[in-house]
Amino acid sequence: MTVKSKAPNKGGASHAPARNEKGRSHNGGGNRQSGQPPKERPMPREESRPTVAPPPKEVIVDSAITVRDLAALMQRSPIDLIKILMQYGIMAPITHTLDHDTAVILGEELGVKVNWPAKVVEASAEAEAAAADAQPQPPKQRTFIQTTMAGQRADRMVERPPVVAVLGHVDHGKTTLLDRIRHTNVAAGEAGGITQRTGAYQVTVKGKKITFLDTPGHEAFTAMRARGAQVTDIVVLVVAADDGVMPQTKEAISHARAANVPIIVAINKIDKPNANPQRVMEELAKEGLQPESWGGDTIMVELSALTNLGIDDLLDNILVLAEVEQFKADPKGDCVGTVIEAELDKFRGVTATLLVQNGTLHRGDTVVVGKTWGRIKAMFDYEGKPIKEAGPSTPTMVLGLQEVPMAGDVFERVENDRQARQIAEARRLAAAVPQPEARRAVTLEDFLKRFEGDETKTLNLIVRADMQGTLEPIVKSLNDLSNADVEIKILQASIGDISESDVMLAEASDAVIIGFSVGVDKAAAVRADQSGVEIRKYDIIYKMLEDIEDAMKGMLEPVYKEVVVGHATVLQIFKLRKGFVAGCMVNDGVVKRGALARALRGNEVIVAEARVETLRRFTEDVAEVRQGYECGINLSQGDELLKEGDVIELSERVRVR
Ligand code: GDP
Repeated sequence: MTVKSKAPNKGGASHAPARNEKGRSHNGGGNRQSGQPPKERPMPREESRPTVAPPPKEVIVDSAITVRDLAALMQRSPIDLIKILMQYGIMAPITHTLDHDTAVILGEELGVKVNWPAKVVEASAEAEAAAADAQPQPPKQRTFIQTTMAGQRADRMVERPPVVAVLGHVDHGKTTLLDRIRHTNVAAGEAGGITQRTGAYQVTVKGKKITFLDTPGHEAFTAMRARGAQVTDIVVLVVAADDGVMPQTKEAISHARAANVPIIVAINKIDKPNANPQRVMEELAKEGLQPESWGGDTIMVELSALTNLGIDDLLDNILVLAEVEQFKADPKGDCVGTVIEAELDKFRGVTATLLVQNGTLHRGDTVVVGKTWGRIKAMFDYEGKPIKEAGPSTPTMVLGLQEVPMAGDVFERVENDRQARQIAEARRLAAAVPQPEARRAVTLEDFLKRFEGDETKTLNLIVRADMQGTLEPIVKSLNDLSNADVEIKILQASIGDISESDVMLAEASDAVIIGFSVGVDKAAAVRADQSGVEIRKYDIIYKMLEDIEDAMKGMLEPVYKEVVVGHATVLQIFKLRKGFVAGCMVNDGVVKRGALARALRGNEVIVAEARVETLRRFTEDVAEVRQGYECGINLSQGDELLKEGDVIELSERVRVR
């Protein structure tokens, strides 16, 4: 295969409609969500666009907040915030959680004062005081920001190795390929080679390095993305030549596209007698990946991971693509990166493989990692050799972290242990503050509110249907709905029940899931519930289209239903100077102030519609009273009709998802 210097297919979903007249899209590559630093060309700072209502001058942030939520609070486009972060050298996706200082600085850049509640700041100050060794107090410092936002300097940016993830259907040979590449290209003379998987390794090809993530599959890839980490530069999509495009192949394509990461196809197992690479290419073309040899822009390499055929060709092409894409970082800039994997080792304590994405990590450095921190006691390369430093795109296994971080956690170097402790503690406290709305996923109903002014709005959808025969017309009609104002972008369209991987994709790429005559598997339901990802199920196409059209016009009405949350029996009626109070016992559930109330006497409805106006325990006003406790209830209307023995049924209006 010839090596061409051409950017491969990227982000151009096969189902994506042609650009509208304005030719602008939020998802069309502008928000290339990957871990690479911004290109050298500085991002033009956008002047604020005209808005309907002026954005607020001041906002209150309860705790650590995502880019998306802060943008919503400030009534700005998240893209504006992401651009500012990029100028500071922070590659943050929309789901990235911002700490206090970062949020404040973003506010300053946008002319909005960010107020952090006293409790978090105070609590962290207390923790700090408790933890502080008898050192003199330094002036209040801008911790995280100071160290990472200085970021990268254009004049110091240098090429860095590409970071490659291997995706594809089960049994198509991802693991074999990763092992093959590792064993044939690891520096010769290493007795026994590498025995331990550490989550990532590097190979050297023609004097240039390539970093491979050693956990194959789009689940790991998207799980990281859903946590806010953007590490992959290139996806190698493995497709077995004897099996062709399978469901997980399609999923992998959608996941790579949603992340805006270019794809190189590895057509594997060509040693097999029934291998049919031609057919694979045809199938891939149907998915929107046109082989270069047919005039398309996707690099496809035929190989056999088993016999080592074509592996060099694949590696060469990865280098070509890296050349085209120009992945760069500032090795002297602030040191940031991502946890690839971590565990507790019986003998060595916490071990973590970190991928440095900018700057250089040194032995002895202090880092904050997610909600923990540590001083790097020892560093090893992927072969287990002790090293003293690791530059951009270098994976390194480190010892010295206080606790086991999570894969996908971001780390950054800070000035000293004290600062690290302080940040980690503040994050822990911030995370402990309940924040039901903190990670608000997009919903059909409110997706328009995320945009401002006259920019083109993109509605990302993931579609599941029961049969191919229904999926195709659904995808077509959805695409046909795109207009000059709203672009519908279908990230993935597939057959079968909604899976956890769909929810992760939705989470990572701000999409709504549409299910047509399909179920939701249990793990998916749980995850959607936790992350707030919206799953909408339909059985009738026109109803689905109608809802999407309404959503595009911002006219989708929320659907509410009333859910009974508790019952209380009236024990006694007290006449007060003004009105009555029903002394009640809560039989089951909970009584809340403001809840909807109906009073029943047997089957007869005494008070049809009222609210709990005041709720008391003894003389004290309370917000809620639970089962087994007595309370005094005063209804907004009709409590003069109540008698002993009546049952007050309490309900709440909940939004139907
Ligand atoms: P994964 O699930 O995608 O990681 O697939 P594996 O790497 O575990 O491979 C699945 C099976 O396919 C194993 O039995 C491999 O030995 C076999 N396999 C992988 N690559 C090749 C190949 O190039 N040729 C042949 N004949 N078999 C292969």
